Amino acid sequence: MLPLIVAHGGAGDWKDERIPIGVKYVAEAARVGFRVLKKSSSVLDAAEACTLFMENCGELNAGKGARPNQDGIIELDAMIIDGSRLDFGSVAAITGIQNPISLARYIMEKTEHKFFAGPNAKRVYDEMIAQGYRREEEGGAIGPLGAAEGADTIGCIVVDSKGRIAVTSSTGGISKKRPGRIGDSPVMGSGAYANSLCGATATGYGEHIMRVVLCRMVTLYVEEGTDPMSAARKGIEMFQKKTGSEAGVIVADAGGNIGYATNAKAMPVAFIQGKLRSMTTLDCLRE
Ligand code: ASP
Repeated sequence: MLPLIVAHGGAGDWKDERIPIGVKYVAEAARVGFRVLKKSSSVLDAAEACTLFMENCGELNAGKGARPNQDGIIELDAMIIDGSRLDFGSVAAITGIQNPISLARYIMEKTEHKFFAGPNAKRVYDEMIAQGYRREEEGGAIGPLGAAEGADTIGCIVVDSKGRIAVTSSTGGISKKRPGRIGDSPVMGSGAYANSLCGATATGYGEHIMRVVLCRMVTLYVEEGTDPMSAARKGIEMFQKKTGSEAGVIVADAGGNIGYATNAKAMPVAFIQGKLRSMTTLDCLRE
């Protein structure tokens, strides 16, 4: 059913008492994104607002709540994808900002490149603020776009009533990562992927997700006729078989069907299909 938004708060070894907290923030993020979609009818605005909320909540491994690297520094990776235009913007290993998702969108929409990393990505961020593309609030956060309220790897998929798809991913990366390490989250096809037919976004050990190009594989299964739920499960089975590692994925197609699967302990998921009142939340525990 359309329009729809599906968001996840990261697959991993969640402490039992933290799972409801993850579910709560993912649910609120889905609400924020869905309201923006109703107001602006832009899948990119909705996906950015949903992701900003999760980056700003301080309880998930992205933005304000991101895990530091071995030097104690927060280095962020993020990507946004416009499925109908088969376009994306990515940023990696950026420090000193809270909201890499807005920078990823700026890179996609306003630069002639797709992917910036490190200190030079920060220069692009400063240019974005100077040009008034986004306004930075006190404390370095970018406010949600037109949202009524608010604020492991997080990501979302938005599909509007015409079947247009936007997908995001945003992360502080795996724990104890070496400075400069970049995971799957900003890598098109691995940490997320979308085209005009379907979109997916992943979480888990980026080193292994990149080996199997997980999100492109899952969306390919959908394009070949597998329903999104079976495609998500097939993707995680394939991933586990080839790498022995842990991951999670959410997927949605242009017709409004969704799927989710993980082989990690848990992955908070929330989705809204058709109406705000139709919100569903899940711990998505390992099967
Ligand atoms: N996929 C992320 C990375 O490897 C980590 C995560 O999903 O928790 O950077």
